[in-house]
Amino acid sequence: MSARIIDGKAFAANVRGEVAKHVSALKAEHDITPGLAVVLVGEDPASQVYVRNKGTQTLEAGMNSFEHKLDAATPEADLLALVEKLNADPAVHGILCQLPLPDHMNEDLVINAIAPEKDVDGFHISNVGLLGTGQKSMVPCTPLGCLMMLRDHHGSLSGLNAVVVGRSNIVGKPMANLLLRDSCTVTIAHSRTRDIEEVCRRADILVAAVGRPEMITGDWVGDGATVIDVGINRVPAPEKGEGKHKLVGDVHFDSAVEKAGAITPVPGGVGPMTIACLLANTLTACCRANGLPEPDGLTA
Ligand code: NDP
Repeated sequence: MSARIIDGKAFAANVRGEVAKHVSALKAEHDITPGLAVVLVGEDPASQVYVRNKGTQTLEAGMNSFEHKLDAATPEADLLALVEKLNADPAVHGILCQLPLPDHMNEDLVINAIAPEKDVDGFHISNVGLLGTGQKSMVPCTPLGCLMMLRDHHGSLSGLNAVVVGRSNIVGKPMANLLLRDSCTVTIAHSRTRDIEEVCRRADILVAAVGRPEMITGDWVGDGATVIDVGINRVPAPEKGEGKHKLVGDVHFDSAVEKAGAITPVPGGVGPMTIACLLANTLTACCRANGLPEPDGLTA
């Protein structure tokens, strides 16, 4: 049996379309335009690409995009002053500081300086606590994207066995909390987990967020399980020519697709959902800031 391939690219385009529709209505009915501020410190090439894509997609959704590029040597106090300014700016509904920050900056300090209601990455300690206690919060974009695809595929997730491999603060832990909130029975596996293959085989929903290329092979996947591959790993691809690379997930797609009921590919699975959910979070933050109802289906 071959699995249904969950098309994250199409799903993300749909989410962006929904966001754009709501933005257009906000403008027409309330004269409000959601605004996202993205702060980039330094010249990391991957971060520059992410920030460019975020800016383009923000504008395409009809929102305002405010980009702040700071020199790598910027003192931490200057970044904190900029965050304070953005916190106070009523035209800015979402603030994102692109990580990683340079070594001389304390990431926790900077993230926790962002006003929690504008923290569209969902990394502020208040949002982490709110999510952990099942309260309304800003939810980290990548896990939110995974949840949307899972809800779409399964309808209700209640009672399903979910295994999340990886316990990072940005993916594994919030993913597990979201699945728990949707009444899954959740196991978090990590580098010290015993019999991890057996643990994974028991999953109805298997989320891989490990950062190890193709670690999870088909024999780790239970018959008919839904596999969400968060991993993005750049590996050599000599078959494409000398010095060429390709992207692979944490799941060995070709073997897993034979066992799974549904699976996200890499690329074209979870990846495109992350920016789509950033836009959704900015819209949600804007609605909350203005006391307006939140758009259906775009929050956790
Ligand atoms: P981290 O490195 O922060 O965390 C990796 C986790 O995997 C850790 O909890 C670690 O366990 C666990 N792990 C490592 N090796 C093993 C192993 N052999 N067996 C079991 N568990 C293991 O990674 P992130 O969560 O930040 O990212 C995970 C992946 O997702 C990466 O490929 C990243 O590029 C990708 N990613 C994709 C995004 C997207 O938009 N699609 C967004 C964010 C990340 P321990 O804690 O015990 O060390």
